[in-house]
Amino acid sequence: MVNKRIFVAGHRGMVGSAIVRQLSQCDNVEIITRTRNELDLLNQQAVNDFFANERIDEVYLAAAKVGGIHANNTYPADFIYENLIMECNIIHAAHSNDVQHLLFLGSSCIYPKLAEQPMTEAALLTGTLEETNEPYAIAKIAGIKLCESYNRQYGRDYRSVMPTNLYGENDNFHPDNSHVIPALMRRFHEAKLNNDKEVVVWGTGTPMREFLFVDDMAAASIHVMELDNETYQANTQPMLSHINVGTGVDCTIREMAETMAKVVGFKGDVAFDSTKPDGTPRKLMDVSRLADLGWRYSVNLEDGLTHTYQWFLANQNNFRK
Ligand code: GDP
Repeated sequence: MVNKRIFVAGHRGMVGSAIVRQLSQCDNVEIITRTRNELDLLNQQAVNDFFANERIDEVYLAAAKVGGIHANNTYPADFIYENLIMECNIIHAAHSNDVQHLLFLGSSCIYPKLAEQPMTEAALLTGTLEETNEPYAIAKIAGIKLCESYNRQYGRDYRSVMPTNLYGENDNFHPDNSHVIPALMRRFHEAKLNNDKEVVVWGTGTPMREFLFVDDMAAASIHVMELDNETYQANTQPMLSHINVGTGVDCTIREMAETMAKVVGFKGDVAFDSTKPDGTPRKLMDVSRLADLGWRYSVNLEDGLTHTYQWFLANQNNFRK
């Protein structure tokens, strides 16, 4: 049997690397990856040449410029520009070179700031977005619409998965630009080493977030990619092709911080800096569509944080900058 040649774009990122870890357990699969030096995804010609030269059967589009609330606020132009260009380059080149199957990875921030909770796939484009990450969200919405448009016009089978807040191995642990879990893991860890009395958490601690361990996300992505067309089509409407991925369970930032303190072993106090932005008040996915398609998460927050902290301790000298 000929191996399926699968291109994972963004294989060094948190999601891409988790997808590669799981695909490498599968039979009859050849995983194709390119580092940034080998292939600049912002370069249209280079991306097209890559697809023209490699006979790719499937694409996992996990390449993206990502960051937390502060990074999105500080670098809005980089977030919208780089994400739009990468999506356009990869999706168009995949189509032009006759790749029939592609999975685009989005984000739950595509949904309106005040969307009814839990958020169903139908909430897309029903209201205004959270302003701190609007440029990133617009790029991700464009990615969904690119997939839908190539499906409608050319009969492609390009699917999209919208994960809730993810965490796990290979996350970005930058103190300012990261998401809340890696930021707090590092802060609590350093506070424990310094014997600090207090750790400061941004915002009021009241926003609610749903967190998914990245290995669960990789499993869900492969599950959605491998669904046969009939099952997938029956579950999606033509104008609504994206699927939420999450746990369906959320907690306050305060509760998550307390779990983090326990996992890291920090015994001091947790304080809140309400001069820092809270972002969206609540972000919980309705995951019933994915459940109907036969997938459910398996790693709870405390277990996922414990695994991630072990990885953090083993890898803290070679974090991505
Ligand atoms: P968001 O889900 O897009 O808002 O992404 P973030 O992970 O950046 O933030 C989630 C929530 O955690 C927000 O309410 C932040 O204010 C809060 N938060 C608390 N401490 C931190 C921190 O150190 N870094 C980040 N990024 N967020 C934090």
